[in-house]
Amino acid sequence: MGEQDFLQCPCGRIIRSPSEYKLVFVKKEHCEIDILCPNPACHLKELGYIEFRVDKKHGKVLVKTAAFYPPYVTWNATRLGREKAVRMLEHHLSEIIRRQVDWKRISGEAPEACETELVVREEGAE
Ligand SMILES: [Zn+2]
Repeated sequence: MGEQDFLQCPCGRIIRSPSEYKLVFVKKEHCEIDILCPNPACHLKELGYIEFRVDKKHGKVLVKTAAFYPPYVTWNATRLGREKAVRMLEHHLSEIIRRQVDWKRISGEAPEACETELVVREEGAE
């Protein structure tokens, strides 16, 4: 790991690992998990979000969108160069989805509005 192999929030907080973000599920009706800066005094607070749906019948979670907001992306693109920043940000997002979110708890807390059902239809079948 080189000296610049970390992400940074515009508030100055260095984020080396995807485990450092604070994840909160407060926008329950929007089926969104907020990705927050680990610095409690951060002026931005929200660095990104994950929008999802829950298929309770099949016990599955679908991530609709996972993204970091432009201020965080731009800050790091300026520091690290766009290509490197995007690669690191994508890595953090995928690790958050795969390892950091407690999907079992989240799907238990998700309201009905977040429920969906995976339906597979064959071509031609109406
Ligand atoms: Zn911050």
